[in-house]
Amino acid sequence: MRELERAGTEEAGPVAAILARLAPAASAGRAGMRILADLLVPPLCLSCRVPVAEPGRLCAPCWSEVKLIGGPVCPGCGLPYPHPVPAGTRCGACLRAPPAFEAARAAGLYEGPLRGLVLGLKHGDRWDCAPLLAGLMAGAGAELLAEADLLVPVPLHAIRRIGRRFNQSALLARALALRTGRPLCLDALMRARPTRPQVGLSREARARNVRGAFRVRPARLARIEGRRILLVDDVLTSGATADACARALLKGGARAVCVLTALRVGEEG
Ligand SMILES: [Zn+2]
Ligand SMILES: [Zn+2]
Repeated sequence: MRELERAGTEEAGPVAAILARLAPAASAGRAGMRILADLLVPPLCLSCRVPVAEPGRLCAPCWSEVKLIGGPVCPGCGLPYPHPVPAGTRCGACLRAPPAFEAARAAGLYEGPLRGLVLGLKHGDRWDCAPLLAGLMAGAGAELLAEADLLVPVPLHAIRRIGRRFNQSALLARALALRTGRPLCLDALMRARPTRPQVGLSREARARNVRGAFRVRPARLARIEGRRILLVDDVLTSGATADACARALLKGGARAVCVLTALRVGEEG
């Protein structure tokens, strides 16, 4: 057995050397396949499917309809203000019920082509939309990302995960981690009980629906304790889900929680 192990160890040298020599060829091969694939199926706009120069992009007309959030926002929930306001001005919702998270930011408004991309990610397995959305999130959430010790996605309920192949929040968190190099823990949070879909519920009913619905997975408590967590989700509506997740993370020992979503609704949800 020991001899086998030694043989295995000795094998690793030449095998590793051969693999290292093959790697550039494999990479060149992949590039060649890409060019061939682009000739056969040219890259298409993620939204309207007209041909574009590079994959994973929007065409110029679709891009012109995108509403990025760039102006003044509520320092709490990231609600965009239509006019300049004194620094630190919180919106009515944050004043009435201060959220458990420190700050939430979103790249764009939940409308136009980006809304279609997020819905595609959620319902249609359009995982190819994740890198573009993550790129926009990295820009909008640069400050939050710089301070974050760990990225954590909002978990899907197990039953819903069977219906959809992907957890869109996990896809976005993974794409963000790849892009920024921030550490990622995909399964830090779990659902403690089932919840109804939030669509169509009032702000109060949304909060009631998700109150106490999340908790930190016991095996992940050590990764959460004392850390600044950046919670990742696709859309922020009333902020009730983000608030419930933030409460669970703080209860699990997190030092602070901020929220980064691809999109958010433009009014108090
Ligand atoms: Zn387009
Ligand atoms: Zn606010």
